[in-house]
Amino acid sequence: MRVLIIEDEVRLAETLRQLMKELLYQADVVHNGQDGLDYGLAGQYDLILLDVMLPGLDGFQVARQLRAARISTPILMLTARDEVADKINGLDCGADDYMTKPFDTGELLARVRALTRRQGEILSDVLTMGDLSLDCNSHALSCGERSLRLGFKEYEVMRLLLVNQGSVIAKETLITKVWGMESEAEDNNVEVYISFLRKKLSYLNSKVVISTIRKAGYFLENSQPQEEPSC
Ligand code: CA
Repeated sequence: MRVLIIEDEVRLAETLRQLMKELLYQADVVHNGQDGLDYGLAGQYDLILLDVMLPGLDGFQVARQLRAARISTPILMLTARDEVADKINGLDCGADDYMTKPFDTGELLARVRALTRRQGEILSDVLTMGDLSLDCNSHALSCGERSLRLGFKEYEVMRLLLVNQGSVIAKETLITKVWGMESEAEDNNVEVYISFLRKKLSYLNSKVVISTIRKAGYFLENSQPQEEPSC
């Protein structure tokens, strides 16, 4: 899990980073709204902790612009202000939850866990693309009559490719999300799993293939059958 902390009070930001570490989350910390927006737009976070009163863009503006850019990462807003109007404003801007400073550490961690869990629950139980479907409960990958069950890491790689269909997913992103930031996994681990998955797609006779863009990453595409030339 990766968390983006946007908080201008340096000591509080550091406390938050330590708390995220307890959950084994990797955190990036920035201290102003514009940096927060830029990092958030990279779109590779599982959660954003967002202060409201920030230099430059405030937290409301950051949340609104992230949502306008279709970044759906859960946002937990943190503020010293305790006005109901602020809370409504925050939620209207696209925040998922709201906490008032000073906050109780246990409560913060509970809310963070709830938000990162919820992200998984938004996903439908079955992810599909073209003739291919992946059952997120049984980890079965199916095409027509054929079906096989994926191992855990294969499943995670396939799930990320399907969730991000239409865009290229970088090797580093796969390593971070599947193996975790602290892991020793390297590029060739990813290559091995991509190769397993390609064999399985081929066994399933699926038209969906995993394409590689050198130095960029992987994406799913439908391999179209050659069109018959019309007379
Ligand atoms: Ca602040």
